Amino acid sequence: MKALNTVKITFPSRSVNEGFARSALSAFAAQADPTLDELADVKTAVSEAVTNCIVHAYANTIGPITLTAALYEDGTLRVAVADKGCGIPDVSKAMEPLFTTGGADRAGLGFAVMESFMDSVKVRSAPGKGTRVTLSKRLGTR
Ligand code: ATP
Ligand code: MG
Repeated sequence: MKALNTVKITFPSRSVNEGFARSALSAFAAQADPTLDELADVKTAVSEAVTNCIVHAYANTIGPITLTAALYEDGTLRVAVADKGCGIPDVSKAMEPLFTTGGADRAGLGFAVMESFMDSVKVRSAPGKGTRVTLSKRLGTR
C-alpha cells in the first residue's frame, strides 16, 4: 500500500525528548482523524519505545534515535523507533512480560504495553548495532 504521508525525525536520547516524540507523533497521527483513545494508545506505545532507547540502548551515553511514521490510505499508522545502541541479545525473551535488565527501577512491562495498545509490534535487533521497533495501528475505526 502507498503511504499518504511520511515523517522522519532524529533526536538525541535525552529524556526531555521523550515528550517531544510523543507530541510530534500525536500531531502527525491527528491527520488520520483518530479517536482520543486511539491517539492516547499510540502516544503511550511510542513513549515506551523511546524510553527504552534512552534507558537501555544508550544506558550511559547519548546517541541518536530516529522516529519514522507513515500513514496509509486505510488509516493504518506505522511507526518505527530505531537506535544505534547496545542491541538486544534475545528479543523473544526481552518481550516477555516482567523481563527486565533494568533492575528494581523497571517493571519489564514496556513491550507488553506496546503490544496491548497497538495492532502489531515487531522488533529487529543486533547486539552492538542497535534496535528497531515497528508499531502499527489502524486509526479512525469509529
Ligand atoms: P519498563 O518498560 O516497564 O520500565 P523495561 O524497559 O525493562 O521496563 P521493556 O520495555 O519490556 O521493559 O523491555 C524489556 C527489556 O528489553 C529491557 O529491560 C532491555 O533489556 C531490553 N530492551 C528494550 N528496548 C531496548 C533497546 N532499544 N535497546 C536495548 N535493549 C532494549
Ligand atoms: Mg521499557
